[in-house]
Amino acid sequence: MTDRYAVVGNPIAHSLSPRIHAAFATQTGEDIHYEKLLAEKDGFAEFARQFFASGGRGLNVTVPFKLDACEFADALTDRARAAGAVNTLARQQDGSILGDNTDGAGLVADIRDNLGWPLRDKKILLLGAGGAARGALLPLLAENPQQVHIANRTAHKAEKLAAEFSAHGQLTAGGLEDFPGSFDLIINASSASLSDEMPPLPTEIVGPQCNAYDMVYGAEPTPFMRWARSLNAQVADGLGMLVGQAAESFFLWRGVRPNVGPVLEMLRKRSFD
Ligand code: NDP
Repeated sequence: MTDRYAVVGNPIAHSLSPRIHAAFATQTGEDIHYEKLLAEKDGFAEFARQFFASGGRGLNVTVPFKLDACEFADALTDRARAAGAVNTLARQQDGSILGDNTDGAGLVADIRDNLGWPLRDKKILLLGAGGAARGALLPLLAENPQQVHIANRTAHKAEKLAAEFSAHGQLTAGGLEDFPGSFDLIINASSASLSDEMPPLPTEIVGPQCNAYDMVYGAEPTPFMRWARSLNAQVADGLGMLVGQAAESFFLWRGVRPNVGPVLEMLRKRSFD
């Protein structure tokens, strides 16, 4: 029988996940059905309970339900516990529900493997201190960068995050006014691009041969990407992260690792309608 999966969010109409997982299934020969489903904003637990009770095997979880999914899961992976958020739920053999967070792994896989940007011994600036920044920290620190500096509009949130993860690597933090030098890689994990804005950043933070990554994706380059490109940085949007996190979820569910390159290429060729 075909195994059932879905992405759940609110809103959900524009999700690319069904296309991505359909492409993974074709590529790997896995027999799955994957759809997008809308849940009421205060109804995640009931939605998820019914989905799994009716035979569903796994869920991807997007805005605004990642914290609800964390609470719903019977057990969490280490990276989900560190992120404090869950984007993937998987029904286990014994019927219990495992919560994972594959966003950070998807980000690192995109940067390291698709883009070929080095992370080891590099100076990394992480902009933002919300859920996406939190989820990225453990996978980024596992790559042994020289330094990760977290900068956020609200400085104390960045400082809190750095203190929480300090056992895992060399972390500093602050606001958007004062930066410790220049960086090899700047990752925009703020949501500023969603409103076509960018954090007010000084040009001095862009080091020579700097790479700049915006977690937001769309048909047009974001203001952050345009700014970084004007300073001769190499830029990328977050579409590869989206495909990367999907690949990690697919692997968790099916035990088969899909090849993200062709799927990313297919999505790039289409418009984001
Ligand atoms: P949150 O709402 O948890 O956090 C938002 C962060 O952005 C906060 O640190 C906030 O600062 C900062 N911020 C918001 N507006 C501005 C601004 N105008 N200038 C400077 N800083 C600003 O969001 P998430 O962490 O969940 O998501 C962040 C981004 O990452 C989103 O745009 C999301 O689309 C993207 N994302 C992409 C994924 C992918 O697969 N490509 C996966 C997950 C997320 P403050 O604390 O001061 O409010």
